Amino acid sequence: MNLLDLIFPKALYCISCGRPLPPQGVAGIALCGRCAGEIVWVRGRRCAKCGRPLADENPAPLCRDCASRAEHIFGRATACALYAGRAAELIRDMKYRGKPYYAETLAAFMAARHLADADPGTGELPYYDFVAAAPMSAKKKAMRGFDQAALLARGFARRAGIPYAADALVRTHETDVMSSLSGDNRRQNLRGAFALGCDMIKTAAGKRFLLADDVYTTGSTADACAETLFDAGAAGVDVIVFATGADVRHAEDRPAVVESPSQLRAKGPT
Ligand SMILES: [Zn+2]
Ligand SMILES: [Zn+2]
Repeated sequence: MNLLDLIFPKALYCISCGRPLPPQGVAGIALCGRCAGEIVWVRGRRCAKCGRPLADENPAPLCRDCASRAEHIFGRATACALYAGRAAELIRDMKYRGKPYYAETLAAFMAARHLADADPGTGELPYYDFVAAAPMSAKKKAMRGFDQAALLARGFARRAGIPYAADALVRTHETDVMSSLSGDNRRQNLRGAFALGCDMIKTAAGKRFLLADDVYTTGSTADACAETLFDAGAAGVDVIVFATGADVRHAEDRPAVVESPSQLRAKGPT
């Protein structure tokens, strides 16, 4: 047994389908090959800003969503998978079916994605002082019992070897449920929603942050967090997520990426 196995013990069963996992599986990833094979990984041409895979017929460096809006405040985003099929199911199960332990596996995929972005020549990775997460509203956290972005950020930071700044950001007021809002309304809704946590007030200046989250939808949450960090003098704010939406012609055409529990109930078990 090596040190990695002690830090990240190998799981025995797939978290998604329950099948036994092979003994030679990857430490920390509790997903069988069959379930992982149903995930559409982000490969090939990506949006230079938000990291979503570019549609074949879109020759531009930006996805249609980034091209159609005022420039994002955050630097750039990286995503592991397309929010569809098994990847979407994993996120829905984690958030709405009370499975916080899924975060470990998703964070392991995010760390692998981050490490794969090392410069092929030098092996160097983009430098970050801290991993942080957008804080969930207290009301939502009380209902769900856990904050999946914080769990993902913590798990990702440990694997990527970057310090995790818990409570780097705090919510200053409760916001409406985001999944029912369009892009412009999301931004309006989030204005002034975040502030720096006590420990970060004297620390943020000159630092580079990587925000970790489960899903990238419009980037409004990332922009609001980035704005708060830049106001405090941060030197850079990038984003890493497990899943992102597809590159579609109009924002309205995009299927709702974040489903609410009521939508999920209406759909029934998957
Ligand atoms: Zn499986
Ligand atoms: Zn984009």
